Amino acid sequence: MAGAAVSVIRKERKVVRRFQEAGATTPAQAKSLEDLGIKRGVGLRRLRERAAIREAAPERYYLDEGVWRTIQRQRKRQALIVIIVVGALILIGLLIARLAAQTPRERIVDLGHPITASDPSWDGKPAFERSVVATLEKDGYAAGKIAVEEHFGTHLDAPAHFAKGGWTVDQIPPARLYRPGICINVTAQVAKDPDYRVNLADIKAFEARSGAVPEGAVALVATGWDRYWSDRSHYMNQKGSTKHFPGLSVEAVRYLAQDRRVAGIGIDTPSIDYGPSTDFEAHKVSMPLNVYHIENATRLTTLPPSGFTVLVAPINIAGGSGGPTRIFALLRQ
Ligand SMILES: [Zn+2]
Repeated sequence: MAGAAVSVIRKERKVVRRFQEAGATTPAQAKSLEDLGIKRGVGLRRLRERAAIREAAPERYYLDEGVWRTIQRQRKRQALIVIIVVGALILIGLLIARLAAQTPRERIVDLGHPITASDPSWDGKPAFERSVVATLEKDGYAAGKIAVEEHFGTHLDAPAHFAKGGWTVDQIPPARLYRPGICINVTAQVAKDPDYRVNLADIKAFEARSGAVPEGAVALVATGWDRYWSDRSHYMNQKGSTKHFPGLSVEAVRYLAQDRRVAGIGIDTPSIDYGPSTDFEAHKVSMPLNVYHIENATRLTTLPPSGFTVLVAPINIAGGSGGPTRIFALLRQ
C-alpha cells in the first residue's frame, strides 16, 4: 500500500516538473500533452481530480502552482502525524517491555509435608484418620472424612496453645500470615549436636551478615531435621523418655518475639522447644506475645537468609489451639 502510494506521488511530481519546465503555469501558457511530452496516466489523472492541472481550453492544460503547494503542505502534515503516532506507539511498546522486565517473577516453595496417617505423631499414637465417604465409581463423586489432631503434620501453633487469652487460630489476623521471611540456617551446628538450641549468638551472627530481623517477619530456623520425617523413631529420636531434636533457646525466642517483634517462628523439627524440653519454656515466652509457631516444616534449608515472603494458611478452626497448615515461601527470581 505505502509503496504504491509513493509510486503515484512520484508520477505526479514528474508531471508537475514537465509543466514547470515548459512554463505552463497560467491559463495563457496552457499547452497540449503532446507539447509537454506527457502521457495520460494515473499521475495526470489525480492532479486533474484535485484541480492542480486545469484545462484552459480543449486539450490545453496548465499547472496551478498554488493548488500544488497546498497539496504538498497537506501531505507533509499527514506524514508528520504518521511519524508522531508511530513514534508514540514505539515508545509505549518500549515502556511495556521495560515494565515487564521489571515485574518480579516469583518462585513458590512448598514448606509443608502432605498429611498421611503414617506421619510422626508426638506420642506415637495415631493422630490422623481419613475414611472414604464416597467414590467416583460408586457415587459419581469422591469425598472423605478426616479426624486430625491440631498439632499434627506441618502445623501452626496458635498463641492460645500456651497463652491464656492468646489468639486462637481463627483470631490470628490474616496480615500476620503473609509476611516477609528470614531463615537462620543452623544445619552445621545440628550436625554436631542433635539437641542443638539456636542461641542469641546465632541470631546476632545472622543479623551481622543479613541485616536485622524485620519487625513482623516470620523467622524460620533451618536445621535439616526434616530429612528424618519418614522415620518416626529417627525424627522424634527418643531415648528412654527423652526426645532429642533441635530447637530454639529461651533467649533466642525472647529476642525474636520481644525485641524483634516477629509475627511467627517456624522450624523443621517437631517443636520450637528442643527435644529434651519437658515444660516447653520457649513456647511460654513467645505465645503470650501472640507470636505463632510453625512446626514440622520442610525444605527450609533451600531458603535464602532473606528476601522472600512467607504465606501461612492454617486450617481455620474456630477456637482452635492450632491446626495443620500449608506454608509457602515466595521467592523473587
Ligand atoms: Zn504444635
